[in-house]
Amino acid sequence: MVAEIIAVGSELLSPYRTDTNSLELTERLMELGIRVNGKCVVGDNDEDIARAIRAAAARAQIIVITGGLGPTNDDKTREGIAKALKLNLVFREDIHTWIKERYKQLTKQDPPDNLARMAFVPEGAEILENTVGTAPGLWLEAKEGYLYIIALPGPPSEWRPMFERVREKLAQFGSHVFSHRILRIAGLRESQVEDKISQFYTGVKNPQVTILASPEDVQIHIWARAREREEADRLADEMKKKFLEVLKENVYTDKDEPLEKVVGDLLREKGKTLAVAESCSGGLLANRITNIPGSSDYFLMGAVTYSNEAKVKVLGVKKKDIEAHGAVSEPVAAQMAEGIRRVAGSDFGIGITGIAGPGGGTPEKPVGLVYIGISWEGGTEVKRFRFPGTRLQVKMYTTSSALDMLRRKLI
Ligand code: ATP
Ligand code: MG
Repeated sequence: MVAEIIAVGSELLSPYRTDTNSLELTERLMELGIRVNGKCVVGDNDEDIARAIRAAAARAQIIVITGGLGPTNDDKTREGIAKALKLNLVFREDIHTWIKERYKQLTKQDPPDNLARMAFVPEGAEILENTVGTAPGLWLEAKEGYLYIIALPGPPSEWRPMFERVREKLAQFGSHVFSHRILRIAGLRESQVEDKISQFYTGVKNPQVTILASPEDVQIHIWARAREREEADRLADEMKKKFLEVLKENVYTDKDEPLEKVVGDLLREKGKTLAVAESCSGGLLANRITNIPGSSDYFLMGAVTYSNEAKVKVLGVKKKDIEAHGAVSEPVAAQMAEGIRRVAGSDFGIGITGIAGPGGGTPEKPVGLVYIGISWEGGTEVKRFRFPGTRLQVKMYTTSSALDMLRRKLI
């Protein structure tokens, strides 16, 4: 059986609210072996909801709807379901009583009249009790067992416990299990990753392979489907192995953990310490490193040396080199790395200088130009990068590249 998800709420059609319920629901359905085939967002309008349900019913046997179950006039999910399936809305005294009691219990106030709206449900619907709020959810079997509609309230705190109650019922529909593998990659662009691995998955339907690129890293997600767990695991692992063979050390982890965690673990394992001096990244590198619990084991200090004077005074960068080569240059990155290593007394020092933009670029030194220096007992190395994107994206690319340079020194 396959499922579709409908997220109801006009606010979800605006740029200010994102439908995250469907992402979470997809994950839960996949765990149960139910494939999500499609999803959509519709406004608080019964005609639109009904149209979405009819379209989904043509393709899927399970439709999960979130939102629009509240007591106000703009909560139209009940009407939408009734319209789509040509069912009457029936007033259920038992539900009305329950809702009024629940309201009194939660608010210590007299229930308002509009609560009665929530007691009108499509005929034949079963009620899913709301243990957090007042809006009941609905479970509806239609078309002689060929279609199941599950309507859940919008707020995650309300639908999550409700979902646990339908999990068992849904599990019987899951004919497949899914195995998920992830590879996170640093030091290669999306197109380079694609070039290396496309030979293995082009035209392959199972496992499904997705490449997700962001300024932080490139991720490969592998989803394998089978009737038995063992078979799904085998399919996913086989594909993963092929990818690892060509991507080699560019894969920094096969778990869902960020680069700063992997680098931190390596530093701890090798008993090495780190200090960083940042210009254009403005402290983002130190921030990412210290986002990891226990980073005090290996991280000694970070300095944001933004002005030329700060680079000279704090890190001992030579004034004449700044004058001769500019602050964004190879010798300055090298001296920043060496300087912070000396000041902190650490095993590794990283120095970052660049032009994050959007202004400040010249033909010789364009926006996105970044030099990253790394200094250790064996010497100092500087790499030159040209990153695309906005100011914040350049900062993220920069810090990921710095972490990756260090990682490659540690492995
Ligand atoms: P109630 O009105 O009783 O709170 P409801 O079922 O009518 O429940 P909505 O009014 O549609 O729910 O949504 C209430 C809140 O739930 C929204 O303000 C939003 O914070 C959250 N929400 C709704 N839909 C989504 C969604 N698809 N993704 C993430 N959050 C959502
Ligand atoms: Mg609403």
